[in-house]
Order: sequence, then structure tokens, then C-alpha cells
Amino acid sequence: MPDALNRQPIADELLDTLVHRLGADYVLTDAADMLPYVQEQRRLYPGDALAVILPACTADVAFIVEQCRAHGVPLVPQGGNTGLVGGGVPQQSLVVALGRMSRIRDIDPTNATITVEAGCILQVVQDAAHDAGRLFPLSLAAEGSCQIGGNLATNAGGINVLRYGNARDLVLGLEVVLADGRVMNGLTALRKDNTGYDLKQLFIGSEGTLGIITAAVLKLFPMPRVTATALVGCDSPHQVLALYDQLRGQLSDTLTAFEFLPRFAMDAVLSHIQGARAPFDQSYASYALIELTTPDAGLDLNTRLEAALADAFENDVIKDAVIATSSTQSQALWRLREGVAEAQIAEGASIKHDISVPVSRIADFIEAASAACRSILPACRICAFGHVGDGNLHFNVSQPEAMDTAAFMDLTPQFNRAVHDLVADMNGSISAEHGIGLSKRTELRRYQDPVALAMMERIKAALDPQGLFNPGKLL
Ligand SMILES: Cc1cc2nc3c(=O)[nH]c(=O)nc-3n(C[C@H](O)[C@H](O)[C@H](O)COP(=O)(O)OP(=O)(O)OC[C@H]3O[C@@H](n4cnc5c(N)ncnc54)[C@H](O)[C@@H]3O)c2cc1C
Repeated sequence: MPDALNRQPIADELLDTLVHRLGADYVLTDAADMLPYVQEQRRLYPGDALAVILPACTADVAFIVEQCRAHGVPLVPQGGNTGLVGGGVPQQSLVVALGRMSRIRDIDPTNATITVEAGCILQVVQDAAHDAGRLFPLSLAAEGSCQIGGNLATNAGGINVLRYGNARDLVLGLEVVLADGRVMNGLTALRKDNTGYDLKQLFIGSEGTLGIITAAVLKLFPMPRVTATALVGCDSPHQVLALYDQLRGQLSDTLTAFEFLPRFAMDAVLSHIQGARAPFDQSYASYALIELTTPDAGLDLNTRLEAALADAFENDVIKDAVIATSSTQSQALWRLREGVAEAQIAEGASIKHDISVPVSRIADFIEAASAACRSILPACRICAFGHVGDGNLHFNVSQPEAMDTAAFMDLTPQFNRAVHDLVADMNGSISAEHGIGLSKRTELRRYQDPVALAMMERIKAALDPQGLFNPGKLL
């Protein structure tokens, strides 16, 4: 790959051309202006950019790509820059930041679709759907700043996957600028369309390595009218799994979220998150946060949930439960779950794993992976929490309180090997929802099926023969 920063004449010529097209306000070259696009939130991956380009429309994006191709300059598409694996960090490339492309092009409540530009903030899409009496169910803690383009490029998951699926499942059509500057117009709003390969799916989860997503047709759903939220205390992850199995059978698709917290996470939230209140008089080894929703205004979900939890109590599956009686109480319970990431930071450094295994193996995984980590460092503190209903855990290892942080972080390769080997043994995934980016490239090479990896490389070479789209990421 040519070193774009050292090819100043080429860079100058390219930037002049882009300024001429977009205007100087939308071609950022000043270091301070570029900083928010060059650094990711956790400062884990240093970045440097030739410039940050802010296109206003799909034709602008196509023009930028054509010019980059002609000059042999690499580029990184970027949304809200909230990704957690360094996928949007530029390394001697141009950043194409989609934030100005934030129009909602169309909303069709009867067809239950919304057509949005890639730079739309996720929460804006949710609100637009809500205003039309519909639900766009993708929901995650970064929803106030992440963008639809980034959500699709990472195939984001979040808290409603159990009921509605991943980002991938919520897309009907896609508009993409290809590496040769052509625009693939796949903005169809059809639920049935068997006209060959489903090309949009190639770009979803491709982390900006195959094309720049400029717009999407997204699925909408009936608006939930009734919600029931509960937090339960259990003696073990196995009991939480048994409860999940029971509720899935009894409550079917009304079960929208089923999240898991261990005692360590709950204690950390209660210690560090302002306003967090203990849900029970005593603490438990494991907790589950459960949410039911339905568009049927006549359904009494609290009563159904209470009856199901009473069964679980009788069968000694749960030890305690609290059901929210107001939306304020429901939010307070969710705050306990949503505060985990922040509370964990307050507990010191942690080594993170975003894994999935079949739901039926999740409790076995927690036990085996915890034991494997403790055999590396007996005093490590396991913070395995997350979307148990999707088989997805954020299996994080927090440093012992008294240990030197650098010495702890030096153990990262050992913890990664132990955790990811177990994931592989259980036919799981080393990246359930955050993607590969920079952080898991080596792990992908180690654990991915070699035939699948070779196919991915061929697809990359076919769609981006010059290797200019987000080089050094994913593959
Ligand atoms: C507090 C917090 C909570 C989170 N919770 C979750 C969660 O529950 N579930 C989950 O799945 N993820 C979660 N994430 C990570 C999640 O992947 C991102 O927040 C989000 O999906 C990325 O969107 P973004 O617009 O910020 O993308 P960016 O970070 O800007 O980019 C991410 C990747 O997508 C590419 N990209 C961006 N836009 C485009 C485009 N238009 N076309 C092509 N490629 C593009 C980039 O090159 C990069 O590789 C969380 C992150 C944070 C900070």
C-alpha cells in the first residue's frame, strides 16, 4: 500500500480537487478539526489521517471514491466513531465521514419501512419510526451517536436481538458506493425478492472494507403498547439459563430482552453508578433482567410475567424477583444493566471478549471460561455479562484490585487464548457483535475456517482490487 502521507504532491492534488467539489469547509486538514475522527473513544488505536472529507450526498461519495482510486489513496468510511474494535480508525488514509448525509428519505408505515441516509443517528431513526406509530427495534447504548451506516457496516446487535434479530435482519435494501466509484442502487423495499445473490448482505458486517453504505431501507414493526420488566436473582448461571428456557416456552415472542449480570457486575454498578439502588435485600450469584413487550394493548404482561416467575420460584430456579410497576421503575432496573460498562471501568483495567456460543452452552461456557481465567490469575475478577438470550456474552476479566495494571494487561494473550479456545470448542464466535476491526484480525486468522477466510479474501480482491477501502482492517 502506498504511504499516502508521504506522497505529498498526489495528496495535494487530490485535496485540491475535493475542495473544489465540496468546498473548503468540508475538507478538514487541520489537526484539531480532524481529532474527533482520528481518535476512537478509548484511545486504544492511534490514528492519522490525510484529511477528513464530509460528503453531502451519494454523488459526492462516488466522486470522492473515484478520486481516491485515481490517486491510489486509501480511505476509511466513518459513522459515529463509536465502534469498539478500531475499525473506523484511519491509518494514513482519508476519512469519509457520513454525518452530513442524515436525511430520512421516506417513511411508509403501511409497507413498514423507512429509507434513511447512512449518516442518520440511530436514535433519530427510532424517533422518526415512533412518530409514524412504528418501531425500529435496533437499540444499543451508543444509539445517541452511532449512525445507521456504522450499525450496518458492523452488523450491530444490542438489546432487542432476541425478538427482532441483528442489524442484518432489519434491512430490506441498500445503496452502496463501490470501490470503482459506481453506485449499487439496491434500495428496494420488498419482503420478497429472489433475483439472485443477496448482494446487500455482503456489505452488512463488512466494516467498510468492500464499499461505502450511503442509504438503507429498514424494516419497521408494530409499536409495543405494553411492557413488563423484571429483575431476578439466581444462585448460578445454570439457573439463569433454566429460567430463560422456561420463559421462552411460556412467553414466546413477547420475551424481548433477557440480559445477564453476575454479582461482580451488580456490586460494581451499585458502588459506582450514581443513583443505582440495590434491587434486593441480599445479593445473589447471578441476575437476569427480563423484558416483555407486545403491541396488543389488551395483554396484561405483568400478570403473565408474575405467574411465570412464580413457577420458577416454586421450582427453585429463582431466589427472588422484582417486577417494575411503572416506567420509572423499569428504567431504574435497566440502569443497573446499562451501568455495567461504566462501573467496570471504575474497577480498573479489564481484558474484554465479545463472544457467542449456542444459548444452551452459555452457562457451561461461563463456568469453564471463569475457571480457565482463574487458572491463569487466581485473583482475577470475572465480569461476564450481556445478551444471554442471544448466546452473546461480554466475557470481561477485571484486574485484581491490588495488581499493577501493566502487569495485568501483559496477560492479555493468555486470557484471549484460554477464552477463545473454549469458544471454538463450543462452536462459538470470537466476535458476536462488535466486529473484527484492528483488534481481532489475528484472532480471526486463527479461528476462522480457512475456506471461509479464503473466500472472504477473494471477495475483497474482486470488489476492491486496489485494496483502498479500509486497509488493514478485518482481513
Ligand atoms: C457505549 C457503547 C455501547 C455499544 N453497545 C453495542 C451493542 O450493544 N451492540 C453492538 O453490536 N455494538 C455495540 N457497540 C459498538 C457498535 O458497533 C457501534 O456503537 C455502532 O454500531 C457503530 O456505529 P458507528 O456509526 O459509530 O460506526 P463507526 O465506529 O464510525 O464505524 C464502525 C465500522 O463501520 C465502518 N463504517 C461506518 N460507516 C460506514 C458506512 N457508511 N459504510 C461502510 N462502512 C462504514 C467503519 O469503517 C468501521 O469499520 C457499542 C459501542 C459503545 C461505545
